[in-house]
Amino acid sequence: MTCCRVCGAPLGAPAYEAQAPSMTSIMTLVSVPTQVFVCETCNHVQSPDLPDIKAFYDTGYRISLASENHDQLFAVAPDGTPIYRTEHQANIALRLLNLPEGASLLDYGAAKATTLRHMMRSRPDLKPAVFDVSTDYTAAWEGWVPEDAQATYDVPAEWAGRFDAVMSHFVLEHVADPVPFLKVIHGLLKPDGQVLISVPDSIANPGDMIVADHLNHFNVPSLSRAFAEAGFAMDVCDASSFPGAFFATARKADGAAKAKADAGVATLASEACGFWTDAAKRLDAAAGDLAGRRAAIYGAGFYGAWIASRVGEKVSVATFLDQNPNLKGSSMFDRPVVPPADLPDEVDVVFVGLNPKKARAIVAQVPVLQRDGLELVWLDA
Ligand SMILES: [Zn+2]
Repeated sequence: MTCCRVCGAPLGAPAYEAQAPSMTSIMTLVSVPTQVFVCETCNHVQSPDLPDIKAFYDTGYRISLASENHDQLFAVAPDGTPIYRTEHQANIALRLLNLPEGASLLDYGAAKATTLRHMMRSRPDLKPAVFDVSTDYTAAWEGWVPEDAQATYDVPAEWAGRFDAVMSHFVLEHVADPVPFLKVIHGLLKPDGQVLISVPDSIANPGDMIVADHLNHFNVPSLSRAFAEAGFAMDVCDASSFPGAFFATARKADGAAKAKADAGVATLASEACGFWTDAAKRLDAAAGDLAGRRAAIYGAGFYGAWIASRVGEKVSVATFLDQNPNLKGSSMFDRPVVPPADLPDEVDVVFVGLNPKKARAIVAQVPVLQRDGLELVWLDA
């Protein structure tokens, strides 16, 4: 029997189930089936552990390591300046955390700690510290994080009770034991310390539901419950500053009230799972109907990769189209990623690999996708 990672309650049948392979957040395939469970007691949504999860993060997961410019484009400012994801995260963290002059701030599960580095540009008084479960990133910390404020694999015992704030960006969704993880952070904070956690919002971005290495899919009730189980009380859960993610802060408060489940949240989670069940059926049918046609996939992110993994054997996928200038010249599954305007003439089918909540509005603004005779295949209809 599977139990909830947050509240420990037994879980029923999965709300979504698909055969192997499943896809990871770094768009690699792993030969495990996908299952997603929704907890009726605390609303937490979760998937089974990945086999050999420790090795995966130590050596298999090198996000943003290959290139300094890999940082994802988040938005473009009105004056045309690109805003990158970690820069935006830094601005949110500075706003949500109450950091006194000279505050010690630990980036826990830091990777290259780019967010912390951005924060220090506007707050050079901060005392940075970094921790990760891999040594892949240590070169990126050299020169700006003091050596005794760097740790890998294990947190030093002398770090207990030392920090004014600990932040952990997009880590908790990967963790097999989220409550013990939060308890470790609890132990690192000063009595009045504050924690900031960011995690994907899988209702706003349903793609998150089926990412194989996202073992947890938090929502407001389950995040609040996880904090309470670890001895924190949640202060703020900001769902709007970073579309598709929650940025939540909490303070130490042993015995904090445990949030009640919200039936509406459970329904939304089950509906997001239902979307994928339907999308898989629809794509399998489309791949049969369109066998042998020349196709492209719009979107070189998770949705596009998932489509390629399902239709690639039957349909000839010539290329991925993506508007992100950083992806120009790259490849995915051995196909080139090109700007939409470079859609090859012979392509007559385009699979739309975008967040279904935004796909139609985005596609309506791409002139080449309005081409006569071009057939569009949507994930949701
Ligand atoms: Zn639960």
